Amino acid sequence: MHTRDQLYIDGKWVQPIGTGSIDVINPATEEIIGKIPVGSKEDIDIAASAARIAFDSWSKSSIETRIDILNALSNALKERGEDIAQTITAEVGTPIGYSRVAMVGTPRVVSRSYAKILENFDWEEKVRNSIICKEPIGVCAFITPWNFPLHQIIGKVAPAIAAGCTMILKPSKEAPLSAFILADILHEIGLPSGVFNLVSGHGSEIGNYMSSHPEVDMVSFTGSTGAGISVSEAAATTVKRVTLELGGKSANVALEDADPTLVAKKAIGACHQNSGQTCSALTRLIIPESMSNEVYEIIEEKNNSYTVGDPLEESTRCGPMVSLRQQKSVSKYIESGINEGATLISGGLGMPEGISKGYYVKPTIFANVSPDMKIWKEEIFGPVLVITTYKSEEEALKLANDSIYGLSGGVWSKDEKRAIKFAKDMRTGQVSVNGGAFNVSAPFGGYKLSGNGRELGSHGLNEFLEIKSIQL
Ligand code: NAD
Repeated sequence: MHTRDQLYIDGKWVQPIGTGSIDVINPATEEIIGKIPVGSKEDIDIAASAARIAFDSWSKSSIETRIDILNALSNALKERGEDIAQTITAEVGTPIGYSRVAMVGTPRVVSRSYAKILENFDWEEKVRNSIICKEPIGVCAFITPWNFPLHQIIGKVAPAIAAGCTMILKPSKEAPLSAFILADILHEIGLPSGVFNLVSGHGSEIGNYMSSHPEVDMVSFTGSTGAGISVSEAAATTVKRVTLELGGKSANVALEDADPTLVAKKAIGACHQNSGQTCSALTRLIIPESMSNEVYEIIEEKNNSYTVGDPLEESTRCGPMVSLRQQKSVSKYIESGINEGATLISGGLGMPEGISKGYYVKPTIFANVSPDMKIWKEEIFGPVLVITTYKSEEEALKLANDSIYGLSGGVWSKDEKRAIKFAKDMRTGQVSVNGGAFNVSAPFGGYKLSGNGRELGSHGLNEFLEIKSIQL
């Protein structure tokens, strides 16, 4: 049992002023595996003033000190990697193999990448009679979701440390445990008191309060578009910087000359990774009409054999949904696809065969999905792939861009130049060409309702910097 009853504020574990606790549930077993405290607005006030005081010295810390901290963080994540992967698998239900790579490996590499960026970062430039300086923005508030809990936290904490900012983190209540381990690590590696503060609790209360707090200079939020809009509204009166990483409904497009077998095989993993609970998942597959029979056949076979089950089994590809709420929500979308007349190729309603406990759904594929259907338009956040066909490349592009979101995307073609041209016409923040791999040094973020601002790489660092011009 992971029981945490204290908050990490000003370099110490302290009793919260807020009362009560939140249960952390293992979605595969439905058992309570942990408890975290409910922080209050007063706890945020104390954390904000600690962060404000710490900013004076941390903003002036040497670049070498920050590099050392970021490398030490990366090393500690490596040393405690198995413990963290097991913890995240227990709270999110992520298959353990994927947890090791994506939930721990990626944050470890991201931390190190910021140490590397600092080695050559230009903090000043000369423009005619001006010196342009980059300075840390100040106290930052971080509000994060449950689906890649540590990755989304490190995507904010590492560049903030690199920039010389101080921070308060409010992790999600579904998967908060890795945030507590992170606080232990940052303490052990000697991050000065007040630079990082952890206050857990309810988003609608303290998340909202952090967003409107006058001592907070920037709020960086990752989560649903609805909550992101609330954060922006709460932040507006204090004119703080707001960066938002929100939802997605990303298109995966096969051009006429793409290899149908490759497209079909890769489409499943691109949609179902982390049991479909991935903001950048490629959930709308758009294929030429002429390719449809071949693609459907392979996808049906692949999806039917996509192993669903205990996330601790090394062979499992798809675990449970994170919560009962999420299981119900994904099931409703599957029901809606059936009722709206889409063709169910594989999966469907109910629990996967042989499973009676846990918040599972069946990985599901729908074909003949039209743009007026709910399953085409809305983010499902589960292992549900929707497929549609096109007659011309112009139509394919129109379908790809037919979304209120613009977070990610994919294009397949034997001709890379043709694929890149198509990728440039997609209104989205990231595009993978022929399965191009995720790059931790490339900016990540959304067009349209998928958000604003960028995380990762030097673009992610710039979000935490103010710019000053000194005229000579
Ligand atoms: P969520 O919006 O419910 O919660 C995210 C965080 O916001 C949590 O910490 C929550 O407590 C807090 N919160 C909720 N309401 C709030 C409010 N009114 N004010 C301030 N804070 C509030 O999202 P979730 O269910 O945890 O995560 C799933 C969503 O996140 C999906 O839509 C997914 O696409 C999105 N997401 C986006 C990215 C990205 O980088 N673009 C990454 C992961 C998840």
